[in-house]
Amino acid sequence: MPATTTTEFDVLVVGSGLAGLCAALLLAPQRRVALLTKQTLIDSASIWAQGGIAAVMDPGDSLEAHVQDTLAAGAGLCDLEATRFVVEHAPEAIAWLQSQGVQFSEEAGRLHLTREGGHSARRIVHATDATGAAVQTALLERLRETAGITVFERHMLVDLITTPMEMPTEAAEDPAPATGGWPGARRCLGLQALDETSGKLISLKASHTVMATGGAGQVYRHTTNPPTATGDGMAAAWRAGCRVMNMEFIQFHPTCLYHPGARNFLISEALRGEGGRLLLPDGSRFMPAYDPRAELAPRDIVARAIDAEMKRGGLACVYLDITHRGADFIRAHFPTIHARCLQLGIDITCEPIPVVPAAHYACGGVLTDLSGRTDLAGLYAIGETACPGLQGANRLASNSLLECVVLARSAA
Ligand SMILES: Cc1cc2nc3c(=O)[nH]c(=O)nc-3n(C[C@H](O)[C@H](O)[C@H](O)COP(=O)(O)OP(=O)(O)OC[C@H]3O[C@@H](n4cnc5c(N)ncnc54)[C@H](O)[C@@H]3O)c2cc1C
Repeated sequence: MPATTTTEFDVLVVGSGLAGLCAALLLAPQRRVALLTKQTLIDSASIWAQGGIAAVMDPGDSLEAHVQDTLAAGAGLCDLEATRFVVEHAPEAIAWLQSQGVQFSEEAGRLHLTREGGHSARRIVHATDATGAAVQTALLERLRETAGITVFERHMLVDLITTPMEMPTEAAEDPAPATGGWPGARRCLGLQALDETSGKLISLKASHTVMATGGAGQVYRHTTNPPTATGDGMAAAWRAGCRVMNMEFIQFHPTCLYHPGARNFLISEALRGEGGRLLLPDGSRFMPAYDPRAELAPRDIVARAIDAEMKRGGLACVYLDITHRGADFIRAHFPTIHARCLQLGIDITCEPIPVVPAAHYACGGVLTDLSGRTDLAGLYAIGETACPGLQGANRLASNSLLECVVLARSAA
């Protein structure tokens, strides 16, 4: 299919999740920015995020503790420099989001900090249980008010446009790519995108392209990710010669609702925190045989145990039962889960919930430095699509929205 339009910008940002919106807002109006997104602006994993954003904000907490918690979750495979960088920039990332109009939950005039698995202190900044929606809604409002951003909805990145780099002049103008080198170094000149409304290909040119296309959960049968999470940016960067790293480290959420009408609905960890028990179809409990912490063992242990039981019994799912806590307690503590399941014909006050482990987060991605630079000059990668080294083999809860903001700021 021939390209029909060529348009030139200073920066192309691909993706309207948290990473992409931050980058676009930080670059405009000084730069002419094109923001592409393959569905609409609101389609992203970011808007679905519930828990929050990790940052050391309490005087009793410490940056070192956040670093150590991240390293422990990452099973020793986090890059120490990247971990320190992200953790140290977390408080200012939160302040920047607030300056953009994001309203986080407060208590007595201060940010309310909650605690999540793997964190040794209360350090999760949140907006009730819908943090991603609060953040994205505020940033999208800013986007509408900001001059210099041209939005291309329903435009899907198809491929990057690259050219061999001349040396040494260009190398002096633009700092060397993250890890690439001479000879054979290439530069990114822009991209080709499919206009999904007209069916035509367009070419967009810019000296800088920022890949913020999110994760790849849709590669798996069960995933908590939105339909847009198909790894497009990772694949395009790889095809253009960038290295990818840690792609084998996919974090699974142990309890995603198993129902044909709701493929990506998360059944929060809090349900197990409040006494929910995992059961086989015959009603027997199996987690105590896997770990002394039973249902409260870390995510990866619970997910592996469920997977083993499903394989052993040829099961389509297992069940999560909270009925013993009583209908009033369940309705008060889990109004969203109760209402959503009821819509699907499952009354969680009197019957167990069918659940499966589901691909939740891609720890790896396009290899970058701490400014998001990839192996390809002019190409940056940020957010879940990138791998600057923070997440190691396993992401610490609420570190991913944080990475989106911190790396978007340093790349911008
Ligand atoms: C249900 C759920 C709950 C979560 N809760 C939390 C939490 O509480 N705290 C936390 O830190 N993390 C959480 N995460 C993880 C976190 O939400 C993601 O890692 C983060 O939002 C990724 O942001 P992103 O900007 O990189 O990608 P996304 O938000 O996924 O945005 C990617 C964007 O790229 C676009 N795109 C993709 N391919 C193309 C293409 N070819 N062309 C054009 N556009 C394209 C998409 O349409 C989308 O707009 C959660 C994830 C899920 C799924």
